[in-house]
Amino acid sequence: MSKRILVTGGAGFIGSHLCERLLKDGNDVVCLDNFFTGSKDNIRHLLEDNHFELVRHDITKEFFTEVDEIYNMACPASPPHYQYNAIKTIKTSVIGVINMLGIAKRCNAKILQASTSEIYGDPKIHPQTEDYWGNVNPIGIRSCYDEGKRCAETLMMDYHRQHNVDTRIVRIFNTYGPNMCMDDGRVVSNFIVQALKNEDITIYGDGSQTRSFCYVADLTDALVRMMNNKENFIGPVNLGNPTETTILDFARLVIEMTGSKSNIINKPLPSDDPTRRKPDISLAKEKLGWTPKVDIREGLSKTIEYFAKLIRENNR
Ligand code: NAD
Ligand code: UDP
Repeated sequence: MSKRILVTGGAGFIGSHLCERLLKDGNDVVCLDNFFTGSKDNIRHLLEDNHFELVRHDITKEFFTEVDEIYNMACPASPPHYQYNAIKTIKTSVIGVINMLGIAKRCNAKILQASTSEIYGDPKIHPQTEDYWGNVNPIGIRSCYDEGKRCAETLMMDYHRQHNVDTRIVRIFNTYGPNMCMDDGRVVSNFIVQALKNEDITIYGDGSQTRSFCYVADLTDALVRMMNNKENFIGPVNLGNPTETTILDFARLVIEMTGSKSNIINKPLPSDDPTRRKPDISLAKEKLGWTPKVDIREGLSKTIEYFAKLIRENNR
C-alpha cells in the first residue's frame, strides 16, 4: 500500500537518494529541507513527479503535516559544515528531533532517526558493536554533532517508552556516493576533487587513521529495510560497510583510479579525530537480512564520474 512519507534533509546527499528510492517503491514523498548543506540540484529531477512535494522549512521550527512515516535525515554531516554553526547543529539534533517526534506522536507515524558512528566518539573497542557506550569528548569541537546525536537517540527512546511512539535508530558509518557536496570537506569528496584537478591530496595527520566506507545505494536499502522490518526491531543498529582502510591507502586508491598526478601532502590532524572506525554489522545481518553489496572500486568509480561531471560543468 502506498504511504505518505516525510524525509527531512531530503535535498541532502543521503536524503536525495532516499527520496528517489521511496518514490520508486510507489510512495508519496514530502521532502523537507532548509538547504543549509543540501541542494535543489540533488532533487531537481524529482520535482515533476506528482508524488513528490518539496517544502523549504527548518526542523528547529514547528511543522504540521500528516504522514505515515518520517525519516529524520536533517543535520549537517561533514565536520566543517556541522562546526560552522555549532549551536545550530545541536538545535537541529535536539529541538528538531523533538519537533519530528511530536509529529510522529500526533499522527501515530513511525519515525527513523539518522544517528551516527560518531556517537562512539574515538572508540576504545574495535570493531564497534551497538552495546558499546562510546568514548566521546563532551566539550570538544565535534561535540555539537556527537552529543547532539546522542541526545537525539535518548529522545527517541524516551518517546518510545513514555508515549509508545514507533521509533527506529540507525547508526550510519561513513557513506559516500553521487550527490555529495563538492566542497563539504569530507575525505571522499576532498580526495576525489583534488585528484581530478591534479592538486595536492591533503592527508590530515600521518594517514594511519582508519574509516570504513559504504556506498549510498547500500545504505539507502538498509534504511528502508529498517523502517519496514516486521519484527518491530527498533535498534539502534549499525549500518555501514565493514571493509576498513587507512586514509593513506584510500588516498593511493583514489590516485590510482583517477590516474591523477597529484602528490600526497600532510596537514595537522584536527582535534578529537577518531583513530579507528569499523562497524560490526552482525545485528543488521541478523535482523534486516542486510549486507552491503557494492565494493569500494565500483562505488568509487561512480562517485568519480559524478565529481568529474560537476567539475566539467563548473568550468563551462
Ligand atoms: P548532508 O549535509 O548532505 O544532508 C543533510 C541535509 O539536511 C541537507 O540537505 C541540509 O540542508 C538539511 N538540513 C540541515 N539542517 C537542517 C534543518 N535544521 N532543517 C532542515 N533541513 C536541514 O548530509 P548527509 O551526509 O546526507 O547526512 C544525512 C544524515 O545522515 C545526517 O543526519 C547525518 O548526521 C547522518 N549521517 C551521515 C553520514 C555520512 O557519512 N554521510 C554518517 C553518519 C550519519
Ligand atoms: N581527512 C583527511 N583529509 C581530508 C579530509 C579528511 O585526511 O582532506 C581525514 C579526517 O581527518 C578523518 C578521515 O579523513 O580522519 C575522515 O574524515 P571525514 O571528514 O570524511 O569524516 P569523519 O572524520 O567524520 O569520519
